[in-house]
Amino acid sequence: MAFRLCPMLLPPLIDYHVHIDLYPDYQEVFAECKKQSINTLAVTTTPRAWERNVEMAGGSTNIRVGLGLHPQVVAQFYSEIAIFEKHLARSRFVGEVGLDASSNHYSSFPRQKEIFERVLRLCAEQKGKVLSIHSVRASREVLDLLEKHLLPDRGKAVLHWFSGSAPEAERAVKLGCYFSVNGQTLQKESGCAVLRRLPLTRLLTETDGPFTLTKGKPTRPSDVEGTVVALAALFKMEEPRMRQILNENLQTLES
Ligand code: MN
Repeated sequence: MAFRLCPMLLPPLIDYHVHIDLYPDYQEVFAECKKQSINTLAVTTTPRAWERNVEMAGGSTNIRVGLGLHPQVVAQFYSEIAIFEKHLARSRFVGEVGLDASSNHYSSFPRQKEIFERVLRLCAEQKGKVLSIHSVRASREVLDLLEKHLLPDRGKAVLHWFSGSAPEAERAVKLGCYFSVNGQTLQKESGCAVLRRLPLTRLLTETDGPFTLTKGKPTRPSDVEGTVVALAALFKMEEPRMRQILNENLQTLES
């Protein structure tokens, strides 16, 4: 009889970048993550949202909450950097932060850089933070600032939904970055080509829900299994093995 892994013994799923507080039924989503033991990083878009998220996570060991100031709302909320500063000592996890040079947000790019640098300096001072980082059309600038202020010794960076070039990915690997991958990246051949060249030891998974869709609906954390299956296929291994690798990566990242 062939040995089969009992589903209960599968290493847990990982959704290392999800905006739980932005789902209309966010209480349900928090409950699902707890019940299914999904290793979750609940990111926030403004520092003001952080405390409520911590409360909702309710001390659950599998739900981490990131203190964030999203580059797409920096124009509106940059003064909340004071709140970010106030909470930072109590939060090991930081995100969503980063840079966005797409046309809708380019006008705030100088301000975004100012805020991102301030965030990185504060994180470097306090050491040991894990950051979930947004970069759209700004991979080079993000890596420049990470190298200048944080990496490799003063904190850890997870590049969320990385869309940079292969040489940029290689530079990020050398700096010690991790990559949280979602289904969207795996749907594009260009995304897969960059992914295939990354060390397996730097991969994590995410949904970026509710901003991505799965079967026409906002992706939920448990839908991340589809991404694990696709990653396993990309790296030519079975799903349980891929889950094991992802959980080992998570452990190393947070150690
Ligand atoms: Mn996001």
